[in-house]
Parts: sequence; structure tokens; C-alpha cells
Amino acid sequence: MPINPHPLPHPVLRSIPREQHVISRRDISPNALRVLYRLREGGFGAYLVGGAVRDLLLGLHPKDFDVATDATPEQVKSLFRNCRLIGRRFRLAHVVYGREIIEVATFRANSDDGSGDRELEDGRLVRDNVYGTIEDDAIRRDFTCNALYYAIEDFSVRDYVGGYEDVQARVMRLIGDPETRYREDPVRMLRAVRLAAKLEFTIEPATAAPIPLLAPLLGEAAPARLFEEMLKLFLSGHAVASFEHLEAHGLLGALLPETAAALRSNRSGALRRMLVQGLANTDARVAADEPVSPAFLFALLLWPAYCRALAGLQAQGMHAEEAQRRAADRVTLHQVQTIALPKRFSLPMQEIWLLQQRFSSRQRKRVFRLLANPRFRAAFDFLVLRLAASDSHAADVEFWRQAQLSSGDELSANLEAAGAAGDGEGDDAPTRRRRRRRRRPATASAE
Ligand code: ATP
Ligand code: MG
Repeated sequence: MPINPHPLPHPVLRSIPREQHVISRRDISPNALRVLYRLREGGFGAYLVGGAVRDLLLGLHPKDFDVATDATPEQVKSLFRNCRLIGRRFRLAHVVYGREIIEVATFRANSDDGSGDRELEDGRLVRDNVYGTIEDDAIRRDFTCNALYYAIEDFSVRDYVGGYEDVQARVMRLIGDPETRYREDPVRMLRAVRLAAKLEFTIEPATAAPIPLLAPLLGEAAPARLFEEMLKLFLSGHAVASFEHLEAHGLLGALLPETAAALRSNRSGALRRMLVQGLANTDARVAADEPVSPAFLFALLLWPAYCRALAGLQAQGMHAEEAQRRAADRVTLHQVQTIALPKRFSLPMQEIWLLQQRFSSRQRKRVFRLLANPRFRAAFDFLVLRLAASDSHAADVEFWRQAQLSSGDELSANLEAAGAAGDGEGDDAPTRRRRRRRRRPATASAE
């Protein structure tokens, strides 16, 4: 049997008593407390673990509360009527209270006992169901700050890997040998930058160093999992910081290869400016509790790729409308190989792109049709965002802003007046000017 050159660290318990840490039961979800107490009454060890303990120590409000225990999933199920067992790769108990789910996981070990309950494929973890002790459970977690346990029996925080100090110092540190841990699960690279962005932590040098080299491994991660991570990276209120961290650690090219290439070749930096502006708007919406949509997000993230593909097709002499459709399809098709963007998001994303060309029309019928399009608002917001890259369509933004404020009659009258004034766009008859406009290269490629 080969000897592992990078054994996991030896766990050493440090217990932080209640009076030396800030976690109060008042800040813990009552349902999570119920689960902890019931497990304890059943004779089992019961701990709050992971992100919740970390967030509570930082004075943040955890969005979910996970519990770790030495009870097996079946034993957990026998204690709760409202419990269901889920997962194959990672078997878990969900205790359900209305809309709140408390996830209860049995302590797991990181060692292979040969039972087939833990499977590695080319160093990657595909199944992880070997139960173990709390020490085993602590060292198989990703970062030290995520491996802290709050014990319901004495309200202490148990730390086996130095996580408590790292939380105080606001440091992300991988447990064990970073390269081995990233090879086991490349998504940990994304978790490192995501949590650093969200918590305003620094990534300690040994944890950061292998990331640019191992970034290509993300290409082999499950596309559905990467989609979920993308939503967490960009729709949790820290999109700008996430983007900057991904760029700084060489991960952007692995996630969004065509966008990364387009940003590199866009010397003026206009596309990057627009992207960052759009992400800042997204963060502001999350902060204000306004809805954010994955379709709009991906329209933004892939816009540089779309512009580049479109420019390429038009340079080959393809007609604008055909080129737009082809560029949208091509970019989507390439991207879904890495990130499983579901059709219910990719279709509206493409619509947002394709509608951009229609904003230059002042033809009455087209104006009204566009206003009535269910995707009008998203497409218009996108048009406004494009001002961050170029003001070549500032007049269009103004026109459509007014159009939304006007009544139908007012708008008709305005369009007619503009038509009568001779700019050739007010009626339905084809004019020289409009024909010229249609042949104009797509606005997208002008940026
Ligand atoms: P968030 O605030 O985004 O929920 P989190 O740390 O709670 O952050 P979860 O995905 O909810 O993230 O995971 C819960 C815990 O499970 C983590 O804190 C960590 O201990 C462990 N964990 C999650 N993903 C991994 C992984 N890929 N490898 C090892 N441990 C992991
Ligand atoms: Mg969590």
C-alpha cells in the first residue's frame, strides 16, 4: 500500500469555555437547539458545526445551522418524526421544521477503511460515508475556520485544528496539505475565494499558492455543482469581491474561459468596467433585499464572450441578426460544458442579449412590441448597464426611459412627430436610413 506523503495533521483539542467566546444560545435557531437537545437526551454527542459556528464567532447571522453527531443517520431518524435521510455521495439526515431544515451529519473520517464507503477516483472524492470520531470529522473539513464545534453539553467551542485563532485573525487556512486537498475536491478552490470575499478574510500564502496552478482541475468538477457555486459567489451580496478574488487567483479562466479571453483582449477595459458595475448593482440589490436573477447575472458574466463571438462572426461577413443568434448559441453551448446553466436561465439570458439590437428602432409597431415584451425590463436594465462601457447608445437609453413613462397615445404622437420631422423612423415604410441602420454592425461589437 502506498504511503501517503501528506498525512492529515494530528488533531489536538483546545476547548474554549463559554465565558471566553461570544456565542450565545439566543443567536442560535430554536429549531437547531431543539435538534441538539434531543440528540443529547438520546445519549448522543451533538454539536453545532461549520459555517454557523464561524459566522456566530464573527458576529454574523448564519443562514443555516448544521449539526454534527456521533449518532448514525438511522439513529437520528429514529429520534425525529420530521426527519428524512438523503444523499448517496454524502448520506445525511434532514430534520424539517416548516421551511427550516436542520442538516444533521454523522461524524465522518477521511481514511479509507476498504469498505468502499469512501471512493477516490484519480485522487477525487466521489463517495464519503465512512463514519468516524469528532477528531476525524474535524480534519476532513476544508478550512480551519469551518472546523469548529459548539457543544450543547457545556456551551464550549471545540477546536482541533487551530480554527479559533484563524477566525480571530480572519485567515482562511486549508487543513492538511493544500495541493492534496484541492486535488481531492477542486471546488475547495472556489470555496476559498468565496469565503474570503464574503468574510473579508485573507487566504494564507500556502493555501493560496497552489490555486493558479490547479485551477484547470475545475474543468473536471461536476458542472451542476459549479453552477450552484456560481450562484453563491455572485448572488450572495459579495459579487464584486468574488470576481476580484477569482481574477487575482487565476480562477476566472477556468470558470468562464471565453469571458476571461475577451476581457484580456479588450484593451480599453470597457467590458471589465461594465462587468464590475453590473456586479456592484447586483450587490446593492441583495443588500436592499431586492430580487436578483441568474439569467441577468449570466447575461452580464458572458457578455464579453458574446461580444467577442459576435465581432468574429461579423468580421466573416455574416448578417447582423444571424450573427447575433449564432454568437448567443455558440457562447451558451461552450459555457454549459463547464457550468451547467439550466435552460430556464440560458434562454432568457440569450433574449436579453438579442433584444439589445432592437433598442435602436423607432418604428411605431416595433417600439410597442418591444415595450410589451416580457423581457423588456431586464433588457432595458442591461442597456443602461452598457453605458458603463460606452455611451454610444445614450440616446437610446433616454428614448426608452421616456417611452416607459409616456402613455400609449403620447408615445404614438411623439413617434409620429419625429417621423414627420423627417428622420425617417416614424412610420412603417422602409426608408433609406432604416436600411442603412440595419446593416450597421451590431452595437455589441463596437465596445
Ligand atoms: P456558507 O456560509 O456559504 O454556508 P459554509 O462553510 O457553511 O459556508 P456549507 O457548504 O454550508 O458551507 O458547508 C458546511 C460545512 O461543511 C463547512 O463549513 C465545512 O466544514 C464542510 N464542507 C463543505 N464543503 C466542503 C468540502 N468541499 N470539503 C470539506 N469540507 C467541506
Ligand atoms: Mg452553511
